Amino acid sequence: MVTLKEYEKYVGADVLYELELYAAKLKGVSIQNINSTAVGGGVAEILNRMIPLLHQLGVNASWDVIKGGERFFEVTKKMHNALHGKAEIFTKEETDLYLETNEMNANVLDNDADIYFIHDPQPCALIRNKKKKDSWIWRCHIDFSNPDLFTWDYLKQFIEQYDVGIFSAPSFARNLKIPQVLISPSIDPLSNKNKELPQETIDSVLEKFNIDKKRPIVTQISRFDYLKDPVGVVKVFRQVKKYIDCQLVLAGGGATDDPEGSQVLAEVQAIAENDPDIFLLLLPPASDIEINALQRASTVVLQKSLREGFGLTVAEALWKSKPVIAGAVGGIPLQISHKYSGLLTHTIEGTAFALKQLLQNPEYAKKLGENGRELIRKNFLITRHLRDYLLLFLSLLNKKEDIVYL
Ligand code: UDP
Repeated sequence: MVTLKEYEKYVGADVLYELELYAAKLKGVSIQNINSTAVGGGVAEILNRMIPLLHQLGVNASWDVIKGGERFFEVTKKMHNALHGKAEIFTKEETDLYLETNEMNANVLDNDADIYFIHDPQPCALIRNKKKKDSWIWRCHIDFSNPDLFTWDYLKQFIEQYDVGIFSAPSFARNLKIPQVLISPSIDPLSNKNKELPQETIDSVLEKFNIDKKRPIVTQISRFDYLKDPVGVVKVFRQVKKYIDCQLVLAGGGATDDPEGSQVLAEVQAIAENDPDIFLLLLPPASDIEINALQRASTVVLQKSLREGFGLTVAEALWKSKPVIAGAVGGIPLQISHKYSGLLTHTIEGTAFALKQLLQNPEYAKKLGENGRELIRKNFLITRHLRDYLLLFLSLLNKKEDIVYL
């Protein structure tokens, strides 16, 4: 098990001291996180790393996952796509199912926490069980820059009952009656996904997937989701491959709250046409070492998202000093300052142009990767994220006390 002390080499002793100071003030306070999947996607990734560190700090934090049937997750995926901008209409059957599933979960989840920390839209309606003495945080991990207004209005009735809303990027701030806080996500430099790996491990992962280590490797790690544009990535690769002999790795698994994955994968398989230089890797959960090795083995990492709450995969690749080309959407520009810590693009043609440029200019690519690592070290490691959360918890408790003493 990783100890907090081990983070000192990346962030310095002062940062850890500050965390201990804040955590000590939270003694006796219980914080219950609730989301909709234990594996797959960025939210589960962060909670998996964050909860043990909160425990080490002596904070009473727990994590529960709501349960729902296949139809519930179809409805919430539709909601997710709508909040990312797709026009959708929800039937009464769908909203009833959404509310009933939230109600059913409310009845089985523990209900004695001081602070409820609810992640994303799926469990958002749990707020209907708010009691006077507790505080509720709604943490939105998705790209909220241009939501479908019907869906937004529906969800807003629940969001505005929370004490505070957390968003990942300034462009996601909405007109809301409750306070909004900007807290961006983070990666854990000591997790299996991000820790240093011996060259033999990297080589053995390449061998396992029959990837040629002598030729350039271009990689995108993502759930198979339309908004990650894997089909666009294959088109980019095809354009570049005419000029440069390289390989494409598209690696990803599913998430239990994302029912669209197999359909997207089928579309990518169809367009990849058994090309021996395109590696479509369907990874099982807990493939962290494989993902780490694939990122480290890459010449260039792509994240050609069309919408993106933050894009942990961008931070993961930058932390490994990899040159990254990513869509200029959502939370990605927080991590990539164009031509300084990576390249931002808007189209297939633009991404292909950027990829050719980086494959032909390794010195420039190296510099972008180095700048990227430093930017992640300063802003997007888990210790900064913990600090922001601890301060938020304290501010919520202080606010409650003010109310008592007024
Ligand atoms: N990931 C994974 N296995 C996969 C695909 C992705 O473990 O097959 C991880 C990836 O390394 C990253 C997270 O899941 O840590 C995805 O987070 P991101 O913010 O990039 O996207 P999201 O899936 O949350 O939209």
